[in-house]
Amino acid sequence: MLVKSMVQRTLGIKRHVVTKVEQTQEGLAIELDVHKRRWLPCGSCGTLGRVRDRLKPRTWKHVPIWGIPVTLRYAPARVACVPCGQTRVEAIPWSQGKCRLGYLDQLNLRCNRAYLLKESFREFWEYKRKGWAKRFLKKWFWWATHSRLKPMRDFAWMLRRHEEGILNYFKEQISNGAVEGMNNKAKVVSHRCYGFRTARTYITNLYHCLGNLPEPVLVHRFL
Ligand SMILES: [Zn+2]
Repeated sequence: MLVKSMVQRTLGIKRHVVTKVEQTQEGLAIELDVHKRRWLPCGSCGTLGRVRDRLKPRTWKHVPIWGIPVTLRYAPARVACVPCGQTRVEAIPWSQGKCRLGYLDQLNLRCNRAYLLKESFREFWEYKRKGWAKRFLKKWFWWATHSRLKPMRDFAWMLRRHEEGILNYFKEQISNGAVEGMNNKAKVVSHRCYGFRTARTYITNLYHCLGNLPEPVLVHRFL
C-alpha cells in the first residue's frame, strides 16, 4: 500500500514497520511495530540490545502529511543492554524532535508545492480560447520552473517543447484519442507477428486486422 511505504519513508525508520494506517476524524492514525527479531538501540547509550518485553502502547503526535494531522501508536520495547547492565527502554526514532521535524517540514512543503502545481494544471483544460490557455500556460510554466521540484520542472519544459501542438487543442477542441487508438492497434498487429520483414506484408496485415474485410467462406465446419 502506497500510504504505508510513504509513511515509512517520511519517518525514516528501519527497525520498525507500519502495520496499519487508518483514517479517523482527527486525521491519520498510524500503527507501528518492531521488525521481527530485531535488536533495538538502547535509549540511554544507543547500543543494540535484544528485545525483552514491550511496554503499553503510547501515541505520538507527528508532523502532518499533506496537511493531514498524523498520530503514531506504538508499544515501545525494552531491550537488554549490556553496557548499561540492565533493561532499558529503546531509543524511539520519531520522538527525536527538532532535526527530524525540520526535514519532515521541508518534505511536507515539497509535497504541498507539487500537489498545488498538479491541481492547478487541471484549470488549463477548462479554457475555451487559445489565447487565455496560452497565458495560463506561461504563468504555470514560470511557477513550475521556480518550484525547485525537478519532476515538475521537467514536465514544464516538456510542455514548452510541445506548446504549439498542445494549444491546437483549443483551436479544434478535439483530442487526438482516435488517432492514438489507431496507432495502438497498428502496434499490436506488429507485435503479434514479432515484426515484419517487408512493409508490404505489414500493410496487408493491417488491412486484414483493421479494414473490416469480408471473410472467406469456410469449407469446413467447426463443431
Ligand atoms: Zn545502554
